[in-house]
Amino acid sequence: MESRGTKREAGKIEVAEPRNKLPRPAPSLPTDPALYSGPFPFYRRPSELGCFSLDAQRQYHGDARALRYYSPPPTNGQSPNFDLRDGYPDRYQPRDEEVQERLDHLLRWLLAHRGQLEGGPGWLAGAIVTWRGHLTKLLTTPYERQEGWQLAASRFQGTLYLSEVETPTARVQRLTRPPLLRELMYMGYKFEQYMCADKPGVSPDPSGEVNTNVAFCSVLRSRLGNHPLLFSGEVDCTDPQASSTQPPTCYVELKTSKEMHSPGQWKSFYRHKLLKWWAQSFLPGVPNVVAGFRNPEGFVCSLKTFPTMEMFEYVRNDHDGWNPSVCMNFCAAFLSFAQNTVVHDDPSLQPSIQDSICPPGSSTSSPGSPVALSQCLNTEMHPTPSCLHGRLDLTNP
Ligand code: GDP
Ligand code: MG
Repeated sequence: MESRGTKREAGKIEVAEPRNKLPRPAPSLPTDPALYSGPFPFYRRPSELGCFSLDAQRQYHGDARALRYYSPPPTNGQSPNFDLRDGYPDRYQPRDEEVQERLDHLLRWLLAHRGQLEGGPGWLAGAIVTWRGHLTKLLTTPYERQEGWQLAASRFQGTLYLSEVETPTARVQRLTRPPLLRELMYMGYKFEQYMCADKPGVSPDPSGEVNTNVAFCSVLRSRLGNHPLLFSGEVDCTDPQASSTQPPTCYVELKTSKEMHSPGQWKSFYRHKLLKWWAQSFLPGVPNVVAGFRNPEGFVCSLKTFPTMEMFEYVRNDHDGWNPSVCMNFCAAFLSFAQNTVVHDDPSLQPSIQDSICPPGSSTSSPGSPVALSQCLNTEMHPTPSCLHGRLDLTNP
């Protein structure tokens, strides 16, 4: 989209011009935090509608087979000593990031369950369907100064589908990722292996491979303002000891971060990292984030639990901190913007949803073919949907 001369500018969300039309001012939405500091908007308590799993070969299963169980080390006064670099790179099977899955797994779940959705007839037609990770990026947009994004939007039978399209910048960054960053990514997954077991009440087994194809995804229903939401997010584990065994309240998000030594380092952590952690876990109602702090040698020597609902307290009195109301008000404004911008509902796309679950290789790119819905979510492939740009180029004046 960048190559077609789309206007890019810091602090604005813009809609790509349709091809072969005369240029006219693109609708835009400002991202300045000051514009979104009103009261916290309504956000329905997220409820789990179902789940699915992806196996070591990235194959979909409509069950919880990939769910793992939180199993922290005993709290007997001893510090943990997890070597996060152990197994790298020989026991690492990273997911093939060249494969752009778009909404496919979520759509496959939706196809199987759309007849039994709660909320009454027509609920789905008024809803927005997306990944949790895409909503996380929306929530943090008013504070984001590094990473732009691009979302493709498609309306089908009333429902608005939002799917991320990798920006050229993000693609270059992925393909030129420095070796140290690759290892850091591995270390995050390795931490999960030290903290989770395949069965409840069993100790973790860190001797095996780290395979990032494997994923357990929760499918949730919520509502932001007047926007009904159906989204899915990957969940690290469930806590068998949690006071409520009901998902998503029993879920735990695991994170690693650099050990901190000065108040300035903590302040920066609260301002930047905690914002991302909060946004990611608040959306699906995951109540706790357990952080493993690693030393320069890559060993986790301390753990700390951050309750999601207490994260804002660390920045409440910080002028340069973040505000949950700004995040949620901006997201609500963006969803209204998208709903009002992407109005064209193309019924000819109907068979493509049905077909989008066909196994890879059985597809062609003609209308109604197995990958058609995914393709229609990519504006490069289909002229209809509007493409909503985040700040792609912050260096532009
Ligand atoms: P997150 O919040 O960013 O972790 O993303 P979600 O929980 O919404 O994950 C949605 C789907 O995207 C899941 O199937 C994940 O396995 C997958 N996923 C998670 N992170 C990445 C990533 O960095 N790149 C890609 N392409 N997929 C990812
Ligand atoms: Mg995690």
